[in-house]
Amino acid sequence: MSLFLQYIDFCLFVILLVLFFYVLAVNRITLLHKVYLGFHFLMMLWPASQFFINIVPDPKYQWLFLNIAFVGMCFLGYGWVVSAFVMTKKVDGLQKSIIFLLSLPAVASSILVTTNPWHFLFTSPYDADSDWAVRSYGPFFWLFVFSGILYLAVATTIMLRTMKASSGTIVKKQLSLCILGVLLLLGFSLTDIMLNVVLFPKFGVVPGLTSAGIIVSVVCFVIAIQKHDLFSIVTIARQEVIDSMSTGMIVLDRDDIVLGFNASAKNFVGIRPGQLLNIGRLLFSSSATGANSVFLEEYNRDKSKSLQTEITLMGDDIWHVSINVSPLLDRKKNLLGRVIALNDVTELRCLVDKINEKNLALQLQNEELLRVQGELFEANKKLEQLSETDELTGCYNRRYLLRQLEYDIAMSQRYNMPFSLLLFDMDNFKLINDTYGHLVGDDVLRVVVKIVGRNLRRTDILARFGGEEFIVYMPHTDREGAEILAEKIRSAVQYGALIVCGLNLCATVSIGLVSVDAGTEADEDPKSLLNALLARADSALYQAKAKGRNCVAVAD
Ligand code: GH3
Ligand code: MG
Ligand code: MG
Repeated sequence: MSLFLQYIDFCLFVILLVLFFYVLAVNRITLLHKVYLGFHFLMMLWPASQFFINIVPDPKYQWLFLNIAFVGMCFLGYGWVVSAFVMTKKVDGLQKSIIFLLSLPAVASSILVTTNPWHFLFTSPYDADSDWAVRSYGPFFWLFVFSGILYLAVATTIMLRTMKASSGTIVKKQLSLCILGVLLLLGFSLTDIMLNVVLFPKFGVVPGLTSAGIIVSVVCFVIAIQKHDLFSIVTIARQEVIDSMSTGMIVLDRDDIVLGFNASAKNFVGIRPGQLLNIGRLLFSSSATGANSVFLEEYNRDKSKSLQTEITLMGDDIWHVSINVSPLLDRKKNLLGRVIALNDVTELRCLVDKINEKNLALQLQNEELLRVQGELFEANKKLEQLSETDELTGCYNRRYLLRQLEYDIAMSQRYNMPFSLLLFDMDNFKLINDTYGHLVGDDVLRVVVKIVGRNLRRTDILARFGGEEFIVYMPHTDREGAEILAEKIRSAVQYGALIVCGLNLCATVSIGLVSVDAGTEADEDPKSLLNALLARADSALYQAKAKGRNCVAVAD
């Protein structure tokens, strides 16, 4: 039979062992759980192997178990050191390399045990005829014992130092129990060596001493971690945190069966584990308003979707509840279940309502302000118009005219455009005043302005220059065009219907015309050009008067 077949059961055991450690390593249990289980397993190796050595008849297997027992012992001291680091919470600060280096003596010892070079450890190696009750040990055995004692001394020192530095009584109690465990293990093991190795065969074979030491130390270790709820403390803390939350949490499986919930969830909905949660009953209960059927439809249709809604529960008080549904997915995005979070948002809702009310009031105020602003704008516009308008006739006043002309003249100069100005004056107006009175004279001025205005183009500007003198500014108009327009104005006034206070009056105007052709006088300052033009128009008007009135005179 091949060696593999001989050891097939052992190989299967090793496979199972590897699987055990794999499950231990990948699952979400605390580091303390992992160390404890690994450590416990190591402790089991010695008594289990001793038991199998005694019951298996084949020396080959006895030899195998003896090796397993000693390998387990090699790592037991190292296991205590690692446990000491975990118990004293130093494991996070330690580098992995230090933990690895510390394992080297254990690894070296286990290699020595399994290879037993030059029979330096077991001086009587496997022999089909050997009697396993009578074992003799070589110099490596004492090296092996020394490394074990060294490990236990290191573990004890770590725990003692932490104990001294710590002020917590629980920590002190835990560590003192562990130290006791180490010392008992050491005591039992050394007694075993003394009786069964050093003094052998004086007292015959005294079995089970090291095993008893291991069991006593395991008991100390278990009490240390179990008595103070070291394993369940994280679970308890988690439950405590979840229960103290004001948010109601309900965990459902894929079929909406309640798996768990926290204390607050019961405030929102009657619930027990294992029950099918019918969220529709909460949403559409008689006291609930605001539930939306789209939410319920989505909730039932797509379980992997996050959803949110809010309902109002009418009881003695009004209660606003927000409902958040989130899917629980595994690493491969498969749906495991859902979490429903219920939040009392009454205070928030009231706050939002108050803010909305304030917003509405502000909006109304804003609208009022906008209305006032509009009125002010209109009033300003009117004021502006008034400041530009001649009160009596409604055409532009002199101030507007001069300001506008300065600008327009500058533009016409820049773009080389012709423009013309005509200045007209009522003929013998004094006579009208004297004959019909000033009020009739005023009306005559109004009607003449209307008649003149009707004959102008949209871009022309008519302004009262003073008394019964008016100016017409004609942009983009050369002398020829201006003469035609001046003549048109003159004749319109002469033949226009001048009916004032039931009287059909006659009036005429004399016109002085001045034109600036394109490209002339381009360099002159607009203001002085305007003054010069007005003077020329005035003298042209004077000429028209001199010529006998009711005519147009063109400035040179
Ligand atoms: P001429 O043909 O030479 O211009 O004769 P005229 O009588 O019109 O002489 P002038 O232009 O010098 O006289 C202007 C008159 O116009 C004097 C003034 O009483 C009158 N006048 C000036 N402004 C107003 C006004 O706003 N309303 C009225 N009713 N009369 C005014
Ligand atoms: Mg006049
Ligand atoms: Mg005059």
